[in-house]
Amino acid sequence: MSEKDLVKIGDRVMLVFDDGSEFIVQVQDAAFGTHKGIVELGNLVGKAYGSKCESRNGNFFRVMRPRLIDEIFKMNRRTQIVYPKDIGYILMMLDVKEGDCVIDAGVGSGAMCAALARAVGTSGKVFAYEKREDFKMLAESNLSKWGVLERVEIKLRDIQEGFDEIVDAIFLDVPDPWNYIENCYRALVGSGNLAIVCPTTNQVQMVLAQMEKCNFINLEVWESLFRQYKPVSERLRPFDRMVAHTAYMIFGRKVNEEE
Ligand code: SAH
Repeated sequence: MSEKDLVKIGDRVMLVFDDGSEFIVQVQDAAFGTHKGIVELGNLVGKAYGSKCESRNGNFFRVMRPRLIDEIFKMNRRTQIVYPKDIGYILMMLDVKEGDCVIDAGVGSGAMCAALARAVGTSGKVFAYEKREDFKMLAESNLSKWGVLERVEIKLRDIQEGFDEIVDAIFLDVPDPWNYIENCYRALVGSGNLAIVCPTTNQVQMVLAQMEKCNFINLEVWESLFRQYKPVSERLRPFDRMVAHTAYMIFGRKVNEEE
């Protein structure tokens, strides 16, 4: 076991109790109150991740590393977010990889931005655009907690004014994306990838019409239906309810204008 497998002061950890309740908290010399009793966070220092620990009144929990997906579902959300089920496919379709430069607009709470920042690695960059200062601050605070803020530059800007960079891929998540397809075209390298999400079909139609005009090829429209199962070996069946609709995903690739 190496040092990095042990809990340190300042780590973000997830406390997982037997009843399924989970808390994400930063390790410091302080007490943290839960319905299962008070947890002395300082006592977690030096424990191996995955270890069994005990609250003051004798309830057990496990100390785990929070995944980005845990952070996204538990964060204080003030905007709509891109659902993790969609984020995965979008990353593949945008072909985001180590060293890429990408644009994320608007940044909102920063869920998609964080996934992009992870994918571009330490040598890549995400240029994120957001027109509202309160959301820019929220995203910065989230991205900082999740350890990826240094890979992201957030600009307080209405994307109507255009983008400053030429990038490998663009992710667009604003209420009126059809108004910015031309700006996206200008900000992409030849063969660069564009992904757009919108919740309603009439928005998809307007986006498609605009992409057809603007030299994008390989147009694709997708939605993903994701059903979770109750993980009980002797009675395996789906949960009764599912998130039936999140967003439509539209993809296209830039081709150069004929000279
Ligand atoms: N993709 C984000 C959610 C984006 S919500 C996530 O995964 O968390 C949409 C965001 O776009 C909002 O924060 C809104 O303020 C911003 N926005 C809307 N129109 C914009 C524009 N024209 N320029 C920049 N940001 C815009």
